[in-house]
Amino acid sequence: MSSDPVLEQLQKAVDLAMHSQNTDEGVRHLSTAFQLFSEETIRLKEASDKLQQRLQTVNQELAQAHRSLVQKVAELGNVTHYLNNILQNISQGIVFINLDGIITTFNDTAARLFNARNTDVLYKSVWTCFSDDIFGFSLREALRFGLAQRLLYKTMQIDADIKELEISTTYISEGPKAYHGLIIMLRDISEMQRLQRTANRNDRMKELGEMAATVAHEIRNPLGGIRGYATLLSRDLADQKNLQEMAEFIIEGTKSLETLVSTILSYARPIQIQPQSLEIGAFLKQIGQFVRVDPAYPRGVKLDIHIPQDPILAPFDPQAFKSCLLNLIYNAFQAMPQGGLLTIALLQLDNTCQIAVSDTGVGIEASHLNQLFSPFFTTKQKGTGLGLVEAQKIVQAHGGQLDVRSQIGRGSTFTIILPLKKGVK
Ligand code: ADP
Ligand code: MG
Repeated sequence: MSSDPVLEQLQKAVDLAMHSQNTDEGVRHLSTAFQLFSEETIRLKEASDKLQQRLQTVNQELAQAHRSLVQKVAELGNVTHYLNNILQNISQGIVFINLDGIITTFNDTAARLFNARNTDVLYKSVWTCFSDDIFGFSLREALRFGLAQRLLYKTMQIDADIKELEISTTYISEGPKAYHGLIIMLRDISEMQRLQRTANRNDRMKELGEMAATVAHEIRNPLGGIRGYATLLSRDLADQKNLQEMAEFIIEGTKSLETLVSTILSYARPIQIQPQSLEIGAFLKQIGQFVRVDPAYPRGVKLDIHIPQDPILAPFDPQAFKSCLLNLIYNAFQAMPQGGLLTIALLQLDNTCQIAVSDTGVGIEASHLNQLFSPFFTTKQKGTGLGLVEAQKIVQAHGGQLDVRSQIGRGSTFTIILPLKKGVK
């Protein structure tokens, strides 16, 4: 039955041995059968050894393959982790929306920009989370036609904040279809634009100051003459009361013009400061005492001063700083004709100290925010429009900046941010 020739021979030898006519013949056939049997056993043993060897090699190869697979998986995990880390910590907001409109990437910066939580938007349809034109173009059309505006700027109101965003979009159509879609990169450029505006404003103010100073100077000389002659005239007209009164009007007019000219000149003059390292908390308390006893302190206004326990030494010129703070404080008083709360809070943040002067007054219209620090900008009947200009000039002379935040009907906060010397606490 078997096709193996050795086995057939063996079978035959056994058959022959069984059917032998005599013992000799039987023994001969049997010995042949044994011979064949032992040869076959050796062959089988060799084959089995070879097979075992092969099995061992295969096992080793398998183990090696497994090890390298595990290593590859670990490497892949590391790379994914590394890329995810970059994606999450990059200062740009990154959003990916696939062809079905599902948000498959929404990094931490994007979440911060939109005041959202990644978990609330990830793997959801973009239209259930945002409006179709949230990024300044129609997402539906961009996904349908594979087109998107590459770069655009958008001002967004996100909760109470107004943010200026730079949005750059690319349509990805490479690789497997599941990875096609829109990649949207977002950059918050509010701070940059604010700095740009401040720089422009400073340039403008410098020019304006120089021009005003020239004009004021030119006015001052003839003004002296006018005043002198009007005084002489007034004396000569002593017996004609109605005419003398007119001369007096001229004198009064020249006086107020002179005050204006001096104000303009003092505004245009660069201020000289002599900073000393002083404890700023104690200084603010002194200012508070000074303001409380001032007859101009309005009734109905409560003054709160928050000073941290640890003393903060900051380099500043006390005289100039007092004038700066009083400007902010009196503006706050004037913004609260019905009374309210004025808070002066001191805070140390990194290498800066911040003094926030907040009121619960009328607030400032958004369209006025840009003009606040321009000379002569005032909304008050008897205002000069130079208070904030002076305050800002003093803060800038200290290497700091003056920030403002305001909400109509809620109040305003002016924050002085002063750099602290490194190592000084
Ligand atoms: P002035 O007080 O003479 O008007 P300022 O330069 O001090 O000039 O202020 C300019 C303008 O800024 C004010 O007229 C007012 O409209 C606005 N302003 C300043 N501070 C406040 C404040 N705390 N609340 C509301 N408006 C303010
Ligand atoms: Mg003022």
